[in-house]
Amino acid sequence: MVPTSVRERMVWPTSSAEAAYRYSQRTSLPDLRSRPVTELPGVGRRIEVALEDLGVASLADMISHYPSRHEDLSNVKKICDLRVGEKATVVGHVVSTRPVGKPVRGRSPGFSAQLYDGTGYLPATVWGRGWLLKGLLPDVRVVVSGEVQRRYGLQLAAKSIEVIEDDLDGDAGPHAGRFVPVYPVNKGIQARRMRTLIHRVLDAAGHVLDPLPAEVLVRHGLPNLHDAIHEVHFPTDRARLKAAMLRLIFHELFLIQTGLATRKARIEITELGVRHTGDGSLLNLFMGELPFALTAAQERVIGELLADMRSEKPMRRLLQGDVGSGKTVVAVAALLTAVESGGQGAIMAPTEVLAEQHYLSVSGALADLPVNVALLTGSQGATERRATLEAIKSGEANLVIGTHALIQKGVEFDDLSLVVVDEQHRFGVGQRTLFKEKGRTKPDTLIMTATPIPRTLSLTLYGDLEISIIDELPPGRKPVETRLVSLVERHEAYHEVRRELEAGRQAYVVCPLVEESDTLEDVRAAEELHEELESEIFADRRVGLLHGRMKAKDKREVMASFRAGDIEVLVATVVVEVGVDVPNASAIVIEGAERFGLSQLHQLRGRVLRGLHPPKCFLVAGPRTEDAEQRLEALTKYQDGFKLSEVDLAIRGEGTLFGSHQSGMPDLKVAKLLRDMDVLVEARREAFALVAEDPTLKRPDHRPLRREVKDLLGADVEWLFRE
Ligand code: ADP
Ligand code: MG
Repeated sequence: MVPTSVRERMVWPTSSAEAAYRYSQRTSLPDLRSRPVTELPGVGRRIEVALEDLGVASLADMISHYPSRHEDLSNVKKICDLRVGEKATVVGHVVSTRPVGKPVRGRSPGFSAQLYDGTGYLPATVWGRGWLLKGLLPDVRVVVSGEVQRRYGLQLAAKSIEVIEDDLDGDAGPHAGRFVPVYPVNKGIQARRMRTLIHRVLDAAGHVLDPLPAEVLVRHGLPNLHDAIHEVHFPTDRARLKAAMLRLIFHELFLIQTGLATRKARIEITELGVRHTGDGSLLNLFMGELPFALTAAQERVIGELLADMRSEKPMRRLLQGDVGSGKTVVAVAALLTAVESGGQGAIMAPTEVLAEQHYLSVSGALADLPVNVALLTGSQGATERRATLEAIKSGEANLVIGTHALIQKGVEFDDLSLVVVDEQHRFGVGQRTLFKEKGRTKPDTLIMTATPIPRTLSLTLYGDLEISIIDELPPGRKPVETRLVSLVERHEAYHEVRRELEAGRQAYVVCPLVEESDTLEDVRAAEELHEELESEIFADRRVGLLHGRMKAKDKREVMASFRAGDIEVLVATVVVEVGVDVPNASAIVIEGAERFGLSQLHQLRGRVLRGLHPPKCFLVAGPRTEDAEQRLEALTKYQDGFKLSEVDLAIRGEGTLFGSHQSGMPDLKVAKLLRDMDVLVEARREAFALVAEDPTLKRPDHRPLRREVKDLLGADVEWLFRE
């Protein structure tokens, strides 16, 4: 056993004797994960349950139950020195206590404790927390913090009051006279108890081994894990606390990046991709017929894709490009390369409307080329479906366009060599791997997303993919004039839309989102709005309706007449959110805009970005929350999807990003992606460099790291170790 005085008092810097003792007691976080909190003295059933409630089950959980903040109690004041208005900490004895305030159902709302510290008396008033009273017997030593107020003499409005049990040389121990950690607690466990337990767990843990390579730490001037953990809980001073935080942030991001890097390395080592050997004949034919010149960004990205496809490594690439940046052409270039190399290419779209649009435009653009384009969606009739499946299986169809139907049972390809997943943000992450069982070889994969995400996010969510970015819009695109319209001004917005129609243009009107998307409620709302527009506002215009509950055939007809210009105003639910492309549409009204997410609004607005006429977007919004207000404001201010995605992340907070099954990523405990971008980039660089040297982390000195990555990320991201 360590002497109590050493155990109870955190001394910084660690004395060498203590350090030597601790070092002899080496453990690692994975070890600590298998030791339950009940090992600690003072953790009985009741505390165990309370801790469980906070997500703390093992000693490792306890160690990483970091303080939410620290209170600077290093400046303990004598009662005689207190001034009105200051925040102070006082250490003294309880003289007496009495209830204060008017009792409610026999219970007082607060109490006052008279304190004495040798220099004077001071009443400390505490509201609520009546359960504290039974511990505050006369002569008990306490440490109290709060604001000094004048009320019949001085008193302390106590924010915290804690009993000091272990009277160590007149020192207040871990609870005062220093930066005192404040932990997230609940009803079952008091702040003070938590602090004592954490103090004990640090001690029980002994010396915590550092899984990160020492060189990496040295290069970045970071403290080792053991010191960082101790400093974060019981900091010596602000500077060390900061360094310790940084270390833990780096730690967290480094482990994730190491996981991503090993996953990527493993795939590259163990899986052979298709080597596309096409001679460019098809591709050149297609390019020659394009009605426009590619942007430099499109050219660059096509180059990146073709280089990947020619290599034997399986391509795993994410293509990011803002709405309207021209991702489809890029995808078609890749698909044609697959076809001319003798394989099959497939593109999966998130909605039938979009799949059909791709089908129309791609089969139109390729009409003169020797390519067989097939469409596979869920709503096709049995006969049609059987014929399509047959063509896909025999290889007769060499370019397949579809929805989720593509990855359902019974779809077999002859020789699938490239898969493009369009608008990936609409699918779960899991789906990006589902294709691979379908072909004989491992197809190359291109994932496209039109919701640009901040770089920090893509490096984390898609950190095992190569990333291509189209950072340029085709020339001549005009920014969408975006106006926020209140319900009273709604008719003015429609008046402006009318002017667009009179000039021969078309418009979308998007209905408010009632539930998720295209529930019956939504449909009813859409029908009502359609009715209103058709019979009143646009009585003399051709108004169409499109919603997700319509039969596929009807949807197709409506889209066709809108494309042909027969329908002038298309009332639609969010089915038009992604990718629909009708160049003559120059205005969009989004009703109930306050209910949509930022990226959704940006997508919707993208529908009118493509035409020749200056596009207009009206966001009709009713009463709204502050978040909604910020979202709408951001849209009127920015056109750039990347910028908007950052704003979105800032508004929503990062809590919503991870931990969901959608993302498949572990929760971030200390890192914040927007704030810690620089750390992320460094951690990623180091992690990838390390894995490049040692792809399976088999070097003896990397073993602790390997174990940690597997342990920490294995459960949450089992895909990391699945392939
Ligand atoms: P997104 O990236 O949103 O999927 P699309 O691929 O649908 O964008 O392209 C949007 C529109 O821009 C289409 O009408 C397409 O024909 C057109 N387009 C694509 N590339 C260019 C270019 N380089 N110059 C002019 N128009 C282009
Ligand atoms: Mg698109």
